[in-house]
Amino acid sequence: MFQTFTSVADPALAAPRVAKLRDLMAAQNIAAFLVPRADEHQGEYVPLSAERLKWLTGFSGSAGLAAVTGRQAALFVDGRYTIQAARECDPAVFEFPGLARAKLAEWLTAHLGVGAVVGFDPWLHTAGEIKRLAGQIGKKGLLLKPVARNPVDRAWGRERPQPPRNPVVLHSVKRAGRTADKKIADVQKRLIADGQDYVVLTLPDSICWLFNIRGSDIAHNPVVLSFAIVPAKGRPELFVDSAKLSNEVRHELERVATISEPGALGARVANLKSEGRPVRLDPETAPYALARGLGPKIVSAGADPCIGLKALKNPAEVAGARKAHIRDGAAMVRFLRWLEGAAGGGRLDEITAVRKLEELRTATRHLREISFDTISGSGPNGAIVHYRVTEATNRLLGRGELFLIDSGAQYEDGTTDITRTVAIGTPSEEMKERATLVLKGHIAIATARFPKGTRGIDLDPFARRALWQHGLDYDHGTGHGIGSYLSVHEGPQSISRAGMVALEPGMICSNEPGYYKAGAYGIRIENLVLVTGAEIPDGGERPMMGFETLTLVPIDRRLIARSLLTREERDWINAYHARVREVIGEEVAGEEDVVKWLHAATQPV
Ligand code: ZN
Ligand code: ZN
Repeated sequence: MFQTFTSVADPALAAPRVAKLRDLMAAQNIAAFLVPRADEHQGEYVPLSAERLKWLTGFSGSAGLAAVTGRQAALFVDGRYTIQAARECDPAVFEFPGLARAKLAEWLTAHLGVGAVVGFDPWLHTAGEIKRLAGQIGKKGLLLKPVARNPVDRAWGRERPQPPRNPVVLHSVKRAGRTADKKIADVQKRLIADGQDYVVLTLPDSICWLFNIRGSDIAHNPVVLSFAIVPAKGRPELFVDSAKLSNEVRHELERVATISEPGALGARVANLKSEGRPVRLDPETAPYALARGLGPKIVSAGADPCIGLKALKNPAEVAGARKAHIRDGAAMVRFLRWLEGAAGGGRLDEITAVRKLEELRTATRHLREISFDTISGSGPNGAIVHYRVTEATNRLLGRGELFLIDSGAQYEDGTTDITRTVAIGTPSEEMKERATLVLKGHIAIATARFPKGTRGIDLDPFARRALWQHGLDYDHGTGHGIGSYLSVHEGPQSISRAGMVALEPGMICSNEPGYYKAGAYGIRIENLVLVTGAEIPDGGERPMMGFETLTLVPIDRRLIARSLLTREERDWINAYHARVREVIGEEVAGEEDVVKWLHAATQPV
C-alpha cells in the first residue's frame, strides 16, 4: 500500500518539544523562530527528514507555518486545514490565528517588542517570502535573521530521520519525447534571450524533467531531491547525492552534465557571485539562502524556465497520457463495478474502498505510486475538500448517501487524477439536482471553445454558471495543471481565479467543479483535459482552441436529472459515455461482469 490510515498526531508531544526549542532559541538569542512546512525545494510533499512542522506541532497538513516565541506559539494554516489543525494540535500550546501570511506579521508584532530578533532557516523560505515579511515586520522595528543551524533540527536530534537516498532512474526518451540535450538547449535559448548567464534550479520536478530522470525521494511525486545550475553556454551541473546513482545512471547523466554532491552547491554559488555575471533565480520558489549567497547585484529575478516548457506536453507525452488514462480508466471501472456490489449491504467503509482501488491499480502492473492520498469521503466526509481518511475518521458508506472518491496514479507514461461521486442506494432529489448543476459546469469546460490568449481565469466562471444561477458555488479552483509522470499539481496554468497564464495546446489541466454541503455530502466530477490546437470551427471566422477529455470513466447516471440538461449537454454526456464504453470496453474485454456493468453504466440519458 502506498497510503496509510494512521493518524500520526499526538498532541501531548508538542509541549516538551516546544520547550526544548525555546531553550535553544534563548541560547541563540532569538526571540521568535519560524517553522514552515517546507524543505529546500518547496514541493507539495517533503521527505520525513523535513517534517519539522509535524514533529513540533503534530499538524500533518500539506501547508502551514508555526511561529514560536519565548512564551507564545501559533500555528498558521489556511481555510482547508482549520478543523484538522485544531484536532491535531494541543490548544494549550498553540493558538490558531487563522489563514494568510499577513496574519503572521500581525501576530509577531503584537507579541514582540522593538528590536526583537525573529529567526528563520534560510533554506526553508523563499526569497520572495522573506522579502515581504521583512518589509512588514521591519516597519514595526523587528529584525528578521537567518540562522546558521536550525534549532528544530537540534531539538529533534538523533530521532530525526536521515534524508532520503533513493535510486535515480532514467526516464526514457521514448516516454519523455525529447532528449535532455535538446531540453537543455531550450533552457539555454531562454537564458540568452533574457540576458542571463546562468539559472539555478531548485525545483525537483523541473530538474527531473530537464535531465529525463525520476526518483522516489518523497511520497507520491516521482522526483529526485537535487539542485542544478544551467549556464547559457556549456555544461550544466547537477547537484545530487552520488549514493542515488548507479553506474549506468551516472554514465548517462555525465553525457550531459557535471555531477557534484549537494554539499558543493554553496561553494559553487560563491564562485558565481565572484564571477559577477547575471544569474536567474526564481524568487517564488528558490530558497532565501541562495538569493543571499548570490547577492542582489547578480540575481536576475525570473520564473524557473523549465516550468513553462514542461507544461507544453509533446506528442510522446500526450500519447503516453492517453494510454495511461485508458489503463487507469479500466482500473476505475473495475473499482466502480466492485463498489456497486460491495456497498449494497451497507457494511463497506472508506478505507476498504481505498485499499480496493489501489489493489486494482496495482493489478495493472504499471503502477509506480499513487499520485496523492486518495480522498475517500462518504456522506459528510465528502464535504471536506481535502479529507484524508484515517482509522479515527473511517466511516461506512451509508444507504442514501453520496460517496466521493478522488484519486490518481503515477504510471511511467502519465499521471492521472480523477474524481467520481457515486450514489449509494437512492439519492435525494436535492443531491440529484446539485450533482447535475456540477455536471453542467463540467460539460461547459469540456466543450468550451476559446481564442488564443484565453487564460484559466477567463474560463473558470464557465464551470460555475449553473451553480451561480441557483445561488450555489464551491471554494476551490476548477482546474490545475498536471505533470507527465511528475507532480499531480503543476503550473504555470490553472483554471481558477489565480489562472493568469494563457492556455496553450499541449497543456493538461483538470476539470473539477464541485459542490459541498457541510455536514451532509460533497459532489465533484473531475476529468483531465488536454488543450487542443487552434482550428477554425465550421462557419467560424477565427481560430479557436478547445479541450480533449482524457479521463474515460462513467459519470453516475443515477445522479443526473435529465430535465436540467440542455439538448447539447445530453449529447455530450451520451457521446462521452459511448466513447468510454468503446475504449474501456476493449480494455476490459473478457471480464464479463465488468463489461456488463460498463454497458449499463454508459446507457444514454
Ligand atoms: Zn483529484
Ligand atoms: Zn485534481
